[in-house]
Amino acid sequence: MEYHIKTIGMLTSGGDAPGMNAAVRAVTRAAISNGIRVKAIYRGYKGLIDGEVKEFTSQDVSGIIQRGGTIIKSARCEEFLTPEGRKRAHETLKREKIDALIVIGGDGTFTGGRLFAQEYNVPVIGIPGTIDNDLWGTDATIGYDTSLNTITDCIDKLRDTATSHERVFLVEVMGRDAGFLTLNAAIAGGCEAAIIPERATVKEQIEDAIGNGRRKSKNSSIVLVQEHAVEGGAGKVAEMIQKVHPEYSTRVTVLGHLQRGGSPSAYDRILASRMGVAAIQALIDGQRNVMVGLQKDEIVLVPLNKAIHQKKDIEEDKWQTMLTLSI
Ligand code: ATP
Repeated sequence: MEYHIKTIGMLTSGGDAPGMNAAVRAVTRAAISNGIRVKAIYRGYKGLIDGEVKEFTSQDVSGIIQRGGTIIKSARCEEFLTPEGRKRAHETLKREKIDALIVIGGDGTFTGGRLFAQEYNVPVIGIPGTIDNDLWGTDATIGYDTSLNTITDCIDKLRDTATSHERVFLVEVMGRDAGFLTLNAAIAGGCEAAIIPERATVKEQIEDAIGNGRRKSKNSSIVLVQEHAVEGGAGKVAEMIQKVHPEYSTRVTVLGHLQRGGSPSAYDRILASRMGVAAIQALIDGQRNVMVGLQKDEIVLVPLNKAIHQKKDIEEDKWQTMLTLSI
């Protein structure tokens, strides 16, 4: 079914991710190219509820493709979880004459968007913007590549100190419930182990990590710990190691919000640009409640429902690659 969209609303929500600006730019320019007006909604669903809306021209998105973060700000908004909050959000849409929404964020953002779409019959298109890469139906999310490169860079620097002092470095990596960043950074950084929620028990993983890192020819090791693999993160893993192996000197590094920042990589800029253009095309084609995804380097549309509810698995071959190379 095709229907006419005159004005779209666009927001970024949840954790910010490098490349969100490139997506904002792409959505804005693709919409304007197709004769559609664009209204930027500031601070995610909070701005939708509070009516923080500004119409964007092509110039409003000049010079932002290389900037990290999001110029239209992001927020986590408890009020949108309530029917009253969503009712107020719908009042803003009506007042601003917004016909459809483009939401850039992660699974929480899509969950809220899908619910809103169902309750108020508003077409919603999701663009995956999260460093976690945890959404089903897309090989990559905007921000993931940049974050992976940032983490790899940090590991390279830590490696210099680790080899100089013969220590076990435990590096805590973000990812919510998913180990994609941790596992891939472990491969890229040549780490001795990655402790992720998707594999074995933490105890077993620690034993493997210590075994690998302490083979005769190695005098230091870097072990990546996914933030939620164990309660207490890398600090807890250090405690567990010290208990069993008091002879090892451990150091904990929490990369924290460093992992979200910085100028987006070329990959993320291109991904965001393609997804932004595809999101507008999807609306023009009459699509609703879908996420724009990337599969085998082709743009695809995935029902929001599936993107949210299906679990994306860690690739077994990458896990095996990490294990094989970490001896
Ligand atoms: P990231 O993966 O980077 O954390 P995210 O989009 O998953 O991004 P969340 O904080 O989980 O981030 O969600 C963003 C916002 O989406 C929430 O603050 C809330 O406003 C809205 N949201 C999340 N879950 C729901 C829900 N079940 N119902 C309505 N709105 C929701």
